Amino acid sequence: MRLSRMLVPLATAALLVACSADDASTPAGPEPPRDTPSLPQEPPDTARPTATVVPPEPVEFDAAAAFAFVEHLADGIGPREATSAAFHEAAGDVEEVLTALGYDVDQVPVPVPSGDSWGVEVPEGESANVIADPPGFDAGTPYVIVGAHLDTVPQAPGAEDNASGVAVMLELARMSAADPPEVPVRFIAFGAEEPRGPGDALHHFGSQQYVADMPAAEQDALVAMVSLDRVGVPAEAVPVCTGGTGTTSIMDALVEAAEGVDVATETCENRASDHWSFEKAELPAARLGSVPYAGYHSPDDVPSVVDPDQLDRVGTVVWAWLTTL
Ligand SMILES: [Zn+2]
Repeated sequence: MRLSRMLVPLATAALLVACSADDASTPAGPEPPRDTPSLPQEPPDTARPTATVVPPEPVEFDAAAAFAFVEHLADGIGPREATSAAFHEAAGDVEEVLTALGYDVDQVPVPVPSGDSWGVEVPEGESANVIADPPGFDAGTPYVIVGAHLDTVPQAPGAEDNASGVAVMLELARMSAADPPEVPVRFIAFGAEEPRGPGDALHHFGSQQYVADMPAAEQDALVAMVSLDRVGVPAEAVPVCTGGTGTTSIMDALVEAAEGVDVATETCENRASDHWSFEKAELPAARLGSVPYAGYHSPDDVPSVVDPDQLDRVGTVVWAWLTTL
């Protein structure tokens, strides 16, 4: 329960800040002069009901909460090679957060082969996809998948790659639980995205398996898949990419949503994330993120490379898009 406890104080702190801002905004005006003739006073209007309806707070991305989860994964747990105990600890934490938000969460095992991951030998073993559905979810009717890979290469604590994507995904899950988008969202923390050898088959194991196991009806009902992968390194523009072989409709819609919330974007083509598994199956997909940085796939991929404002920009864009569907 450690994580839920960590997230609750953040929400409480945000409320306290909002309340004290309210108090401060009440002006301490001058006292009225005492000799002014007083106007006849109206009797108290007892017939008018007192206002009891409080307008709902707009749901907003909480960058501090997202950054706290980046620190938790990268500093608190550390490198999360797809089959390691650390990976499974992180998967348990993601499951716990999503369950506390009211999602139905399932961990689906992902068997992976031994190999070479970015120059380090990795064993054969088991990773997992953590799949979270909102209450009453039906994958036979239109829905969206927002995903982020949870594993890292063995030598990297993976703050940017990809605690950043997981953290933004969890914030979007919190926002979706508070104010469900019209098209429901399935959230997936994918296992074993990082390579275990060369070539197109030896990476993205979690998403490749997921797509291979998708019933035809679920493929037909999928409106879009968005992969959040390396979304926290600061940049002038948020990269919005596809693999270059399928529809650009999701990329275009994300760019348009970003314009609506004044976030600059840059379109690009790459196949180095889980969106590619979907695009190869001719499913509509896009990826956010991929700004180059010095700590990539190294022990220097620590929280200081991640900018909470960039997490905020990416989360705000995805939320703007989700709420237009
Ligand atoms: Zn990645």
